[in-house]
Amino acid sequence: MTDYGVTELGYMRWGVSSIREWKEFATAICGMEYFEEDGEAFLRTDLQHHRIRLIEDGTDDCLAFGLRVRSRAALRIMESKLTEAGVKWTRLGADEAHARRVREVIALEDPAGNPIEIYHSPRISYHKPLHTGRPMFGKFVTGNAGLGHIIANTKDLEASENFYELLGLEACFYSEPVGPMPSVAFMQSTDPERRDHVIAVGLALTKRFNHLMIQVEHLDDVFQAWELVKKSKYKIALDIGRHANDGQISFYFTSPSGFLIEIGHGGKSPETLSRMTTGDPWGHDMTPGTGPELFLVDMGGGAA
Ligand code: FE
Repeated sequence: MTDYGVTELGYMRWGVSSIREWKEFATAICGMEYFEEDGEAFLRTDLQHHRIRLIEDGTDDCLAFGLRVRSRAALRIMESKLTEAGVKWTRLGADEAHARRVREVIALEDPAGNPIEIYHSPRISYHKPLHTGRPMFGKFVTGNAGLGHIIANTKDLEASENFYELLGLEACFYSEPVGPMPSVAFMQSTDPERRDHVIAVGLALTKRFNHLMIQVEHLDDVFQAWELVKKSKYKIALDIGRHANDGQISFYFTSPSGFLIEIGHGGKSPETLSRMTTGDPWGHDMTPGTGPELFLVDMGGGAA
């Protein structure tokens, strides 16, 4: 049977207060390409038509998590799995698929109410090389591993794990509770070219997601962004460190919409057997008032 599961976080749609501010931040600090088409604003990190669409609606939150499956056949299986499990989903029309530059797309919500879109066949603009927003030492690491990863808002960890397992992901790693941070489950695709994790759940947040991680080929692009953030009005939320799960050297910083961006490099091949741990090997010191705890909602006893 076709492997129907989600292969990657392929795109996101963000509601923002200022496209002008996002254009400056995403290009000059993150190195993304910004372009406009038919009056709409997009960000790109590779040859895919876009990875992020910006909509100036003042919400400063995510309007859609776009999760890719490998093919039309996989989407048909996904639809029947969702129906069997009693999850409501809607097939979006051709105009809505075109707006996302994908062949077909369905829309649903996860148990926390996060807007999920599952699609196949994104448009790849092979004719349009990436024009990074600032000089970079290397490329973004995307391809079949997608845009990056996120921590999504969760009201009930078990319900969220069950839901993302239904989408074909499985927990590969758990962080144990530390201070105000409850346990987080990191969900991995079974695709052979997968990223360590696509989506993590466990934090009850005031926004729909806590951070987007984007990965770069060259360590110097992490440190270049780090220097640029230090000279900007944006704040380092978690300083340079290495993660226990994906092994990446990364740091986190605030964005014009409040949620965080993580830029990471390197790491190790995704593990196949699930584990748990209590902390990172080194670094990732939190700046009080800017870190992930900024969005944490007290769940009265923790999410885990
Ligand atoms: Fe991360």
